[in-house]
Amino acid sequence: MTQSKLQDGQAELPTPESTHSYWHHDPSLELLGHRTTDKLPNEADVVVVGSGITGTFAAKELVEGGRNVLMLDAREACWGATGRNGGHCHPLIFITKPHIAQFELDNYFFIRDFITANQIPCDWKSVGAVCGLATEEEAQAAKENVRLLRRHYPSLADKAIYVEDKKELAKLRVPSARAAVVHPNAAKVWPYKLVAWVLERLLRENDTSRASSAAGIRFNLQTTTPVTHLQRYGDSWVVHTPRGQIVTKQPDARPDIGAAAAQGIQAAGAHAHLGNAGGRR
Ligand SMILES: Cc1cc2nc3c(=O)[nH]c(=O)nc-3n(C[C@H](O)[C@H](O)[C@H](O)COP(=O)(O)OP(=O)(O)OC[C@H]3O[C@@H](n4cnc5c(N)ncnc54)[C@H](O)[C@@H]3O)c2cc1C
Repeated sequence: MTQSKLQDGQAELPTPESTHSYWHHDPSLELLGHRTTDKLPNEADVVVVGSGITGTFAAKELVEGGRNVLMLDAREACWGATGRNGGHCHPLIFITKPHIAQFELDNYFFIRDFITANQIPCDWKSVGAVCGLATEEEAQAAKENVRLLRRHYPSLADKAIYVEDKKELAKLRVPSARAAVVHPNAAKVWPYKLVAWVLERLLRENDTSRASSAAGIRFNLQTTTPVTHLQRYGDSWVVHTPRGQIVTKQPDARPDIGAAAAQGIQAAGAHAHLGNAGGRR
């Protein structure tokens, strides 16, 4: 069924005239305006909508799993939230539920190890993080949460350290806080550079010797190609764009278009997450 009207809670297409982001001041020349093929392919195993960190790491997993992936973005590559944030990578261990905290921590270690193993020049630096707590109420709630973590989730116990000693708070540069929670596992990173590196590598790994037949293209990136709607087609989906339509060959794909952040049509297997939802930063 064709979906052509916005439903409640759905966002419009990304604006083509977005504000300038500091983090784009040295953009990847390989990615700017990139279209792997002049025309869109007629079909792909999986179509990933959006080239931010979610879509990019989903595409990476899918390509490594043997699928051919078409990635469409309404704007330049990584021009959404991932290209606009300053990379505070900070699993909030003492606030979230333990299984979410563990998930965030796993993502933190995944990203850290991936960057280290590949020596990705994206300014990753593990710096730790301090959450200052202003009031007695906040301090007591945090103290209790850290106590429960120690008791029930020993694997997380040393990942959130409660501090209330005045001298220690001063050393942590929050002298006026009532207390603080230290997270040793937190880092800063330049997310645009990280994602651009992954996209560039995916493009470079294409087998261009067979690319003329389109058979060698395992990863096809098409910038400035908005997806306007999705249509169910048997077990597959038809992805509509102003430049033509693509049929996904992968059954069980789950579309989610127009929502706050475009997810891959099939995003299963993605490990990437910048620590947490942005709301608390
Ligand atoms: C200013 C700012 C600061 C932030 N700071 C932090 C932080 O310090 N730490 C942290 O962890 N998180 C932070 N966040 C949140 C974080 O950036 C996002 O959670 C994360 O980048 C989302 O990634 P994404 O790939 O899902 O979405 P995005 O990076 O937004 O990617 C979505 C992509 O989809 C494209 N798109 C959307 N609709 C369509 C369509 N219909 N057709 C084709 N393409 C489409 C967009 O153009 C975009 O490129 C911040 C966010 C902002 C905006």
